[in-house]
Amino acid sequence: MEPAMKINCDLCSASLYRRPFVDCKILAGPWANICLHCYLIHGLHPFGIGRATLFDSAGLRVAHAQANNPTIFAEIQRSAESVIL
Ligand SMILES: [Zn+2]
Repeated sequence: MEPAMKINCDLCSASLYRRPFVDCKILAGPWANICLHCYLIHGLHPFGIGRATLFDSAGLRVAHAQANNPTIFAEIQRSAESVIL
């Protein structure tokens, strides 16, 4: 995934441009690129191989151990909310 790629959440269509997102298998079955809000509702938890991978707002992959850390996840979630389009 390129950092500056303009993509949208596969579920709610929110822009994921310069926002953290999750590449994951959703509860309904298929794989999707989704926003953190949708991940909390529809994504398979926790982050891990065959489940979900978190990317930060720069498009960089976050290690699963860090993504599963509630403090780190909350920080990344806050960075999503602070983006002004
Ligand atoms: Zn979404």
